[in-house]
Amino acid sequence: MNWLDKIARPKLKALLGKRDTPDNLWIKCSNCGDMIFHRDLDAADKVCPKCNFHMKVGPTERFKALFDNGAYQMVDMPDVPVDPLKFRDEKKYTERLRDARNKTEQKDAIVTAHGALDGMTVVAAVQNFKFMGGSLGMAAGEALIKAAELAIEKRAPLILYTAAGGARMQEGIMSLMQMPRTTIAVQMLREEALPYIVVLTDPTTGGVTASYAMLGDVQIAEPGALIGFAGPRVIEQTIREKLPEGFQRAEYLLDHGMLDMVVHRHELRDTLSRIVHLLMNKTPSTTDSAAPESEEETPSDDDTPNAPKEEPSSEDQLAEVERQSKLAGQTP
Ligand SMILES: [Zn+2]
Repeated sequence: MNWLDKIARPKLKALLGKRDTPDNLWIKCSNCGDMIFHRDLDAADKVCPKCNFHMKVGPTERFKALFDNGAYQMVDMPDVPVDPLKFRDEKKYTERLRDARNKTEQKDAIVTAHGALDGMTVVAAVQNFKFMGGSLGMAAGEALIKAAELAIEKRAPLILYTAAGGARMQEGIMSLMQMPRTTIAVQMLREEALPYIVVLTDPTTGGVTASYAMLGDVQIAEPGALIGFAGPRVIEQTIREKLPEGFQRAEYLLDHGMLDMVVHRHELRDTLSRIVHLLMNKTPSTTDSAAPESEEETPSDDDTPNAPKEEPSSEDQLAEVERQSKLAGQTP
């Protein structure tokens, strides 16, 4: 970066004020380096048309892609105590929070909405990586509990899209306490026999992987997503071995029995719809609130023979996570 970028550009920008046009009309794919026109990229749900790389997407895009006609209702998230530890590193935690809130226009890392998916009411929660790395703090914990309670109230399945760097260190033990709390939230859904579907997106790591992200009745991941407890570099340094190709990527985890399926973003909505309708024993688009534009799907009885799954045992998955964390020899 030269002086032109460092000094002249920001000053010019400040002088000219905020422009309406996006900063970058062409977005570079971080995987293949191809330049993609922003409209084409939006039309492709932020999947690179050339190499199929799945870029990160926020809650709004997720909700619009999931719910019938892109229509949904946001759920108010509960308030939590702010910065109980008065934490400060290079910056105060309250400042980091404020910046993240300004950047994302969200209260905290998890946002929740409800709406119809092929006519069936579903509750969906999205963890936004742009909000302090999607980290799990008190607010995110509360948000997930609230989402579970709402799903129970509406007798609806809960779909969660995860993306996180782990627990929020600025909240210390309070953030770690969210791991058992969210596990209980998942248990509440199980007791009510309501499906809890997890979509793991890039990256899902740390305390989030060690709790609610791995407890879904069906575990789905997007292609190429990094999913793990400790990162590959830490593991390599600890065990002093070269890790295999593709380690901790969605496809690797699928091969090793940690996931039920890896689904391309373009097929995600249909897959989720099929799963929740199967698990709730309902047929898509036949309920009164069915969206007029939603496509007719094949009736669910046709799906039954090749229907996936037996529910994965979450105990097994937890054991695997524990095994991995022992391997890693550390806590996040
Ligand atoms: Zn690409």
